[in-house]
Amino acid sequence: MDRQDIALLSQETIDKISAGEVIERPASVVKELTENAIDAGATAISVEIKEGGIDYIRVTDNGCGIPREQISLAFLPHSTSKIRSSEDLLAIHLLGFRGEALSSIAAVSRVELISKTSESLTGSRYVIEGAKEISLTEIGAPDGTTFIVRQLFFNTPARRKFLRTAATEGNYISDIMERLALSHPGISFRFISNGKQKMATAGKGSLKDAIYQIYGRSVAMDLLPVRCERETYTLEGFIGKPSLTRGNRSFENFFINGRYVRSQLLSKALEEGYKGYMMQHQYPFCVLELTFPDGSVDVNVHPTKMEVRFDDADEVYAGLASAVSQRLLMREDISNIPIQS
Ligand code: ADP
Ligand code: MG
Repeated sequence: MDRQDIALLSQETIDKISAGEVIERPASVVKELTENAIDAGATAISVEIKEGGIDYIRVTDNGCGIPREQISLAFLPHSTSKIRSSEDLLAIHLLGFRGEALSSIAAVSRVELISKTSESLTGSRYVIEGAKEISLTEIGAPDGTTFIVRQLFFNTPARRKFLRTAATEGNYISDIMERLALSHPGISFRFISNGKQKMATAGKGSLKDAIYQIYGRSVAMDLLPVRCERETYTLEGFIGKPSLTRGNRSFENFFINGRYVRSQLLSKALEEGYKGYMMQHQYPFCVLELTFPDGSVDVNVHPTKMEVRFDDADEVYAGLASAVSQRLLMREDISNIPIQS
């Protein structure tokens, strides 16, 4: 290729590229919109998708709503109501804070928003497609917010081509919904795919009920409650009896301060605790919440915010591994004798 002159990218191109860092696939849209609903104080959230969410995603909440005069602003890059400066990052207890989701979603899809706050008599309907505002009108609506996202990546065909089949994309969304529901047993979640209800939680606040509603009776029967207090964090939740296994890590659910995280360190520590109880290539079940006082964990490492950094990784590892191994030693059912020691 001939060498071309260096030129600045247009704002439109820059927006599309940075949108791709937050929004990789339909599941990212669902995650961001549902987290926004949680942050908005919703007690009921319903998510409906068609064909893996590629052409249709709807997220409805009964949260605080967005005032009409702030809707446009919410869709600008780096606009957020959740922090005001970088100092606030240390104390952040909400799931969002980067102010990137709505602008990113709007840059690569056709978005319809209906929202109403309790202070306002009427709701608003806003349409934005490929970052271009189409309309903002008054409409009758219940308190709360509904987002409809259509034709994801309609204007970035290269990205659209990278999507997997509707079934696979739908499974990613289903995973996200399960984790959001597990990390918020006080919120009632409903997930509908192609007109069929796939998941529903009662939102009464019991983690055990949520596990039952998501994984069914066979898993709920095989749980061991775990609770321990360490110097820098508390650990609480359930681990599965050693008979409850999967051939991959999809049964391992870790939450830190209400946020689902993926962490090699936590997985390894958990598996260390099960050492001697599991065959090779078998992985245990857990839903564990680690609560850290503000500041000793950094969840701000990656744009999709799933990775974490601990101030004292060794202590986190040791605490989790020993809590698990002790719990397995003291369980009442002795039908599962360790495979090796
Ligand atoms: P962030 O979540 O990082 O603040 P977003 O781009 O996801 O950034 O959202 C921008 C802002 O729009 C939020 O800070 C919030 O004020 C508002 N918002 C988004 N979704 C909702 C919702 N479902 N209910 C109420 N407000 C919302
Ligand atoms: Mg957000």
